[in-house]
Formats: sequence, structure tokens, C-alpha cells
Amino acid sequence: MEQQKVDILGLSQTELAAELKKIGAPAFRAKQIFRQLHVKRVFDFTKMTELSKQFQAELQERFCVNLPKICQKLDSCVDDTVKYLYMLSDGNCIETVRMVYHHGISACISTQVGCKMGCKFCASAPLGFVRNLTASEMLGQIYGADQGYAEDRRISSIVLMGIGEPLDNYDNVMQFLRMISDKDGRNLSLRHVTLSTCGLVPLINRLAEEKLPLTLSVSLHAADDKVRDALMPVNRRYPLAELMKACGSYYRTTGRRVTFEYAVIAGENDSAAAAVQLGKLLRPVFPGQRPHVNLIPVNTVADTGFQAGQAAAFKKKLEQEGINATVRRTLGDDIKAACGQLRRDSIELTEGVVKGNESISGM
Ligand code: SAH
Repeated sequence: MEQQKVDILGLSQTELAAELKKIGAPAFRAKQIFRQLHVKRVFDFTKMTELSKQFQAELQERFCVNLPKICQKLDSCVDDTVKYLYMLSDGNCIETVRMVYHHGISACISTQVGCKMGCKFCASAPLGFVRNLTASEMLGQIYGADQGYAEDRRISSIVLMGIGEPLDNYDNVMQFLRMISDKDGRNLSLRHVTLSTCGLVPLINRLAEEKLPLTLSVSLHAADDKVRDALMPVNRRYPLAELMKACGSYYRTTGRRVTFEYAVIAGENDSAAAAVQLGKLLRPVFPGQRPHVNLIPVNTVADTGFQAGQAAAFKKKLEQEGINATVRRTLGDDIKAACGQLRRDSIELTEGVVKGNESISGM
């Protein structure tokens, strides 16, 4: 049965070598097969023509390649953005977005099916958490979204900003990062990776120790504990003072500045006073540097009642407070659906709303 086979796409080169040893294959085969999968993107063993027919059959017997299936693909009419709804081998759905920038192609990938964090403005929150994604399923989102494009149009930067909280799936995310940056595989520099977190302090501290060159982005959304408590339950566990301490220490340990995401929500977090408070909060964290905040006009998600605030006006206020701010360009506006919305819609259509049963309070 397919399930009992090992998913070869999620094995690091070392793990693959160990698996191959069990069937008596020499060590060099691991590198060869790893290249076939991650560079040449050959996912059918019978098409790995460098291998003998007999070896192909042995691989087929022992391994499978669990590529997520594209079940919906939305092409934007206004730009080159493409959104994918993938179905995983167990029938769960996740989303990936492929975006074209002048500096290259970027993918926004999911790290979990659902999420435990319960942020009040987010489309994924009401559906709860189902399970972690494997490293293979993270790679598969990228390889799937590269299908049909020439090699020089392959995804060249990755943001872990789709469905899920990447630090809540720490080990699989690390495996994914090691594999995507493997010199014999996709060889993508982690400088081109951004990991976004809602602020799980102990795991930010753990990530700092890995000293990876990726960009850490913290979803802040408020500079006041009361406001942030109401928007993001995670703040009750790790309030702003602790979060800022972790960001400062991340910067000192890795030498890499942390950036912040701020969804501008009308009447909630976009006042002049909020800008002053944000300045006071962030300036001391990176002495001698101007903090950087990405402003996103909040995407309206059904039932949340939040409306987008005036991001451009808030940006001006922040600049007066010594903060660099950019307003995130909204790509693929016509196929928008806030992050997580495609999955939510597909679940509502097919099954009615199914709720996962884990939340941050049960973490
Ligand atoms: N869990 C991680 C990554 C996934 S969410 C995190 O919290 O950072 C990716 C980003 O989208 C986060 O900054 C999140 O706060 C933001 N986001 C979620 N729902 C949104 C909405 N409706 N409008 C704007 N941004 C939203």
C-alpha cells in the first residue's frame, strides 16, 4: 500500500543514504537520486534514466513521492500572481501563493493544516488546527508551483507566511530549511527565506541559536498589550515586553535585524497614539538602527468585522516616530481571498465548517 512506503521527497541526503543502505545501494546513489528529485524535479522513478530498470523497480517498491495535488489554481488577471489550493495525500487542503517581483519569483507557503494561534482577524483561526505539514509537503508546495515554468522562472525566494505557525512546527520547518538549502538540491540561500511568527518567545530564542541567515518577521499588529491581547491570544502567554526582549536577543545572536508585520485595522491600531507607542516599543530594540515595519491593510475576513485602516496615513505617522515603514503591495488583488480563505471556502463548500479541537489555550 502507498501509505506504507517511505515518502522519499522528505528525506535529507543523509537520511536517504541510510534508507538506500538498507537495500544495499552504494552511498553515491543518495546524491544522484536527491539531484533527480530536487534539481531535475523528476518524481517518477521510471523516468530516472540514470538508474537501471531493476533499481528503479526497487525504489518504486520501497518509496513514494507524495507531491500535493493541485485541486484549484487561480491566475490573477491584474498581475502574474497564482494561488494554489493543494490537496494532500490524506485529503486535507492547504494554500500556496506564487508571486512575481522584479527581483524574482516568491512563494508564500503553508506550514500547518490550520492553526492553533487563534488570531482574531485571520481566516484560518475559526477552523482550528488539524496537523503539522511534513518537510516533504512544504517542498511539494514549491515544486508544484514551479510546474509548467521554465527553469529560469523557478521560485527564488520563500516566505513562511501561509496557513499555520511555522515555529509551532519547529522540527519539520528546520528539516525543510536544511533540504531547500542543500547544495546538492535546490541550493536556495536562506537569505531568500522569511519566517513569520506570531511571537512564540521560547522558539524565537531557539531559532536564534541556529544562527541561520534567514529573515525573522514578527507579526506584531499592536504595540499595546491590551490591544494585542484582544487581537492575538498568544500575547497573553508572551506579552510585548518578553517578545521585544526575544527580538533584541535574536538580533544580537544572529546579527540579523527582525522585521515586523502590522495589519492596519481601522479604529483598532491605526491612531496617532498607536504610532507613538510603536515607536517607543521598537526603537530601543535595535539601538542605532531604524526599525522596519511592513504595513498590510487588513484583509477583510467574513465574520471578523475588521475593516482595513489607512495604511499610507499610518506609514507617515510611523516615519515621524523614527520607524521605516512599507505598505505591502497587494498582489493578485482580484483573486484575493485573505490568506487561508481558499481553504476555508473549500471546507465550507464540501463539508460545512469543521473545527479542529486544539487552540492556543490547550498548547
Ligand atoms: N503564523 C505566522 C505566519 C502565518 S500568518 C504569523 O502569525 O506570522 C502570515 C501573516 O498574515 C501574519 O503577519 C498574520 O498576522 C497576517 N494575517 C493573517 N490574517 C490577516 C488578515 N486578515 N489581514 C492581513 N494580514 C493577516
